[in-house]
Amino acid sequence: MNYITIDKEKCKACYLCINECPKKLLKVSKETNNLGNHIVEFDDPEHQCLACAMCAMRCPDMAITGVYKG
Ligand code: SF4
Ligand code: SF4
Repeated sequence: MNYITIDKEKCKACYLCINECPKKLLKVSKETNNLGNHIVEFDDPEHQCLACAMCAMRCPDMAITGVYKG
């Protein structure tokens, strides 16, 4: 099962990654970080992640810290 990891304290809530994901697996979370930003969360109940890393490459703040193939 492929997955990504997000450093929520680095997320600036620009949401560029949401549009970048070809499978639309990122969404705005109800959770906020220490900056008060509504962070993004990875939501992949059907295991569709391609581990393509497009989300990580798009993030200007390097908040998507890992992309894993499993
Ligand atoms: S691109 Fe990066 S900073 Fe912007 S919402 Fe996504 S994880 Fe957060
Ligand atoms: S690695 Fe690719 S498929 Fe997986 S969440 Fe990121 S952009 Fe989407």
